[in-house]
Amino acid sequence: MDRENNKREMGLNLDIEIDSNSGFCYGVIRAIKHAERFLVTNNKLHSLGEIVHNNREIERLGKKGMDIIDYNSLSNLKNDIVFIRAHGEPPQTYILAKNNGNKIIDCTCPVVLKLQQKIRECYNEIKNIDGSIIIFGKKGHAEVNGLIGQVDGKAIVIENIKDIDLLDISRPIALFSQTTKDIEEYNRIIKEITQRIDKKGFDPNNFKFHNTICKQVSSRYSNLKNFALSKDSIIFVSGKESSNGKALFEICKQNNQNSYKVEAIDDIDIEWFRPKSSVGICGATSTPNWQLQEISNFLSKL
Ligand code: SF4
Repeated sequence: MDRENNKREMGLNLDIEIDSNSGFCYGVIRAIKHAERFLVTNNKLHSLGEIVHNNREIERLGKKGMDIIDYNSLSNLKNDIVFIRAHGEPPQTYILAKNNGNKIIDCTCPVVLKLQQKIRECYNEIKNIDGSIIIFGKKGHAEVNGLIGQVDGKAIVIENIKDIDLLDISRPIALFSQTTKDIEEYNRIIKEITQRIDKKGFDPNNFKFHNTICKQVSSRYSNLKNFALSKDSIIFVSGKESSNGKALFEICKQNNQNSYKVEAIDDIDIEWFRPKSSVGICGATSTPNWQLQEISNFLSKL
């Protein structure tokens, strides 16, 4: 039996709700608006890296003229225009682009710009007292690379609580977080470092931590937990590459065993739903609203 016949037979009559807190964050909306506005009067725009980790949105923008370039292509690009996405970039990228006569459309999210500035300022102080900048984030992530670049690469990245073993806590430490990390995990890391310093009898004033998780993300974690708990099943829509998507889906899974991560309608299995059950549709900060709506339209026809 094909999917269409199956749907008609089952008559699931689902109670569907799209999470009002899901969809693109402010920084991504801003970047996409800039790009689309530019492409109204220009037929090409080179984005350094994916503007958003969502293949279908990339495809949509690709049809309008946006292409994705990497650092190799950037070094060969001359007298052209480079688009910098919301994640931000290290200073070296700006130098490389400008040295080849390129213009830059800089859509680094203002929240990330503020964090870059804070890290630079803090580094200028802490380096004089033999201290280190620590970043809680994903190694190799574009935003993290942009942050490390602010301090000439002289920052240590920790990805989880185990990585605290790598730190020299006898010296001054300034801890920052990538903007999209889980606030609860960040708090556990802060607590663990504080306890270790206390246990060893080191000066607690040498440990400074900064809450640099984006408010759009931190509020999303707690809202999503409640949303996942309130439904019989959850459809989480996200691109495979989105690290924010992976983390937010984990929240759904922890709070609702019937949580499923999909990229598009074709990934949905109607066996997941009981008749007349409630279904929540939500997604990452890189998931556009039109994709959530598409899933909702499909489920409502079952
Ligand atoms: S998650 Fe926050 S910091 Fe990151 S791009 Fe979106 S609004 Fe900006």
